[in-house]
Amino acid sequence: MEKKLLNELKKKLEAEKILLEKDLLKFADKDKKVPYDYDTRFPEFDVASRSSAPDEHATEIDSYGNLLAVEHALELRLKEVGEALEKIKKNDNTYGKCEKCQGEIELERLKANPAAKLCLSCANKKS
Ligand SMILES: [Zn+2]
Repeated sequence: MEKKLLNELKKKLEAEKILLEKDLLKFADKDKKVPYDYDTRFPEFDVASRSSAPDEHATEIDSYGNLLAVEHALELRLKEVGEALEKIKKNDNTYGKCEKCQGEIELERLKANPAAKLCLSCANKKS
């Protein structure tokens, strides 16, 4: 792959990684032992209002569930981005190669999603 293009994709990935980490840290703590893992903080709510207003309590539990789903999606994306960056750093020519057929991933595809792991045809077969 062209060095200039590789640098461009790397910059995109680095910028996305920073954004993802920022988003995650708004409501989750980084798990220092597991890479790319975050733990959602349980929202703190008033114990007194909890017992007097059970409905409110249910709402908070519900939003915690939503946060978990969001956290999971962000984590997955962060992992993809992080792994793509690691491949670029290793410089062993695995970046930009399809993990399934080892073929080159289409450049347009990489530009749209620099963390893509599969070429277009393998990605289509998968779904
Ligand atoms: Zn492929």
